[in-house]
Amino acid sequence: MRREHRFSLRHLPATLDDELTTRQRLRLQAHADDCPECGRCCATFCSFAAFSSAWGVAPER
Ligand SMILES: [Zn+2]
Repeated sequence: MRREHRFSLRHLPATLDDELTTRQRLRLQAHADDCPECGRCCATFCSFAAFSSAWGVAPER
């Protein structure tokens, strides 16, 4: 959990720039669902709906 937490905090900003692979985004999303702190971070960067939408349609690289 803590390891996932560090991963999420480190990569959240990159998600907005679409710099993560689909697998990384899914990992972030799974953790944010479990972790109130990271869930808040997601909400801070972007509305959750838009965030989920961006993850859902982003092409795999
Ligand atoms: Zn977290």
